[in-house]
Amino acid sequence: MVAELISVGTELLMGQILDTNAQYLSRQLSDMGIRVLYKSTIGDNPQRMKEAFSQALSRSDLVITTGGLGPTPDDITKEMWAEMMGLPLYEDAACMERLEARFQTFHPGKPMASINRKQAFMPQGAIVMPNPNGTAPGCIIDKDGKIVVIMPGPPFEMKPMFENHAKPFLYSKCDDMLVSHFVRILGMGESDVAATLQDLIDGQANPTIATYISTTDVQVRITAKCKRGEDAQAILEPMEKEVLRRLGDYVYEVGEEALEDVVARMLIERGATLSIAESCTGGWLTSALVAYSGASRFLQEGLVTYSNAAKSRHLQIDASLIETHGAVSYEVAQAMAVHSRTISGADYGLSVTGIAGPTGGTDEKPVGTVYIGVADEHGVQVEHFKFSSDRSRNRQRAVTNALNLLRLRILANDKLQGIPQK
Ligand code: AMP
Ligand code: MG
Repeated sequence: MVAELISVGTELLMGQILDTNAQYLSRQLSDMGIRVLYKSTIGDNPQRMKEAFSQALSRSDLVITTGGLGPTPDDITKEMWAEMMGLPLYEDAACMERLEARFQTFHPGKPMASINRKQAFMPQGAIVMPNPNGTAPGCIIDKDGKIVVIMPGPPFEMKPMFENHAKPFLYSKCDDMLVSHFVRILGMGESDVAATLQDLIDGQANPTIATYISTTDVQVRITAKCKRGEDAQAILEPMEKEVLRRLGDYVYEVGEEALEDVVARMLIERGATLSIAESCTGGWLTSALVAYSGASRFLQEGLVTYSNAAKSRHLQIDASLIETHGAVSYEVAQAMAVHSRTISGADYGLSVTGIAGPTGGTDEKPVGTVYIGVADEHGVQVEHFKFSSDRSRNRQRAVTNALNLLRLRILANDKLQGIPQK
């Protein structure tokens, strides 16, 4: 099945909002084995909208539009589709009832404005998709061998509608499936990952394999092509096993789980506790872990010791140590991790100190210099990183690398204790 996405809205063309719907839908469809061959954006203009819809219908089996279902006169997506497909609009009683009930919840006792009523009109014969998160229902038109899926623009309305209604419908329509697994890697660059897997990449058939980089990690996508009902796992498994064998501890996750969640879970599973002392990351590292529900089971404390004085006051670091080596140094990162651990009584102490930039660098310690320390009962390990000149990216990478260093330390301790590796 060939699919095409059209995002409707003049605000998208003017760059006021980012078209995240198209990215979400592309990802969803490709995970389902549906090939997306075209994507476009069109303003709230009847003529150009009809042209875009007509062209899409001429070359694609499935057309999905988002946006333009609001109550105002410039929201005309549904009307244009109805016209294009030769389907009159009718007032859908169930939609009208839900619309009125929703309006009464938010504006008790007030009559609904007549312009709102147009949202309850649907193309004849369409499958209605209710919208519990907003006023505009969506719909699916399945006619003359073409499928048109019409959904509202706001992502928090569109995503659940796609997931709960459009996706099951599309699944029932297609036979071929693509099932992908993502192997997520830290501490090795994309070209090294590709080199490690080169013969697998060169010889790929089914499953296929490819590497990607994101802002924080490298990913290997392994994709099986199969028929509905066929065991995708059986196709994926030998390749996945081989990839995991070659990449070893560089792999932090197979799936969608975020690094901070992986690390949080590792700590909880081992009953281990953590304290954090951070400088250039300004609380980001602690915050990332606190996003995990259940963080209180492992997190003792997270101190943001930004100034030299704060490092001495809260972490009992000798002012002379900072003076001799500088706040951004191997020695200070080491002392931060060790003292954080001993003061709090946690099993692990994790520290970050660095020069986020863009100012503050020197020849000896340029912008992007970061030291990360991790302490446990066996001692302390400090790693030195040299990132870029971008403040935000440097801080993000410091967080990622700190979490990864802790992950590797936990794995090393597992090995020391003879705990079998996954
Ligand atoms: P609309 O349904 O066209 O009135 O869109 C309502 C709102 O949904 C817009 O103002 C945006 O905030 C959001 N929206 C619409 N289309 C998209 C899109 N393609 N990606 C992300 N947000 C969108
Ligand atoms: Mg709009």
